[in-house]
Amino acid sequence: MVPSVRQPKSPGPARRRPLARARKIADRLALIYPGTATELCALVHRNPFELLIATILSAQCTDERVNMVMPGLFLRYPTPKDLAGADRTELENLIRPTGFFRSKAPHILGVSEAIVMRHDGEVPRTMEELTALPGVGRKTANVVLSVAFSLPGLPVDTHVIRLSQRLKLTESADPVKIEQDLCALFPASQWGEISLRLILHGRKVCVARRPRCELCEIAEWCPSRGKF
Ligand code: SF4
Repeated sequence: MVPSVRQPKSPGPARRRPLARARKIADRLALIYPGTATELCALVHRNPFELLIATILSAQCTDERVNMVMPGLFLRYPTPKDLAGADRTELENLIRPTGFFRSKAPHILGVSEAIVMRHDGEVPRTMEELTALPGVGRKTANVVLSVAFSLPGLPVDTHVIRLSQRLKLTESADPVKIEQDLCALFPASQWGEISLRLILHGRKVCVARRPRCELCEIAEWCPSRGKF
């Protein structure tokens, strides 16, 4: 007698073949939010150093407000060396509108000094060197890699975490694991763009409290559609 074999529970259609589903989502998002990572990034900057500082300032702050502060900051302190030697009180006043200025100021001073001392005033181009800068984590490093240098890098912020969970592209809540899961689903050449498109979609449609599933152009591939 042949023993009966218990079949695994069949996943719903939207959860089948995550790789194929992920590619469909990526293709549709590319139509909705076209452009390279550099073009999609809303932080105004003229070079990698300005982007690094803008990314630090963007913590707990809107991109619009960071963009308002940046011209005045870099008019006063144009180079990493200038910023490394900035007066802390004056720097705090310049970046005050971005919030948390008392913690951001020493962070900026430390990063600027490290870039001058360790890298001759140039922002490094590797994850290892970037995350060795004081207070620079993987998210900021990935922004710099993908946007400033057009290198592979997938920044994971609160929007990317929320969307990748709702889209069932990951089962993790850990940003590093989510980054690994997403990187496994998409070609390295698309990592930066994917992140920025998820962020834009998270801001406009798949918002935190009440996602606008009825307006969502990737709803057909979303296992969480209409569940909120
Ligand atoms: S269908 Fe709803 S939950 Fe899914 S990605 Fe779109 S807005 Fe978010």
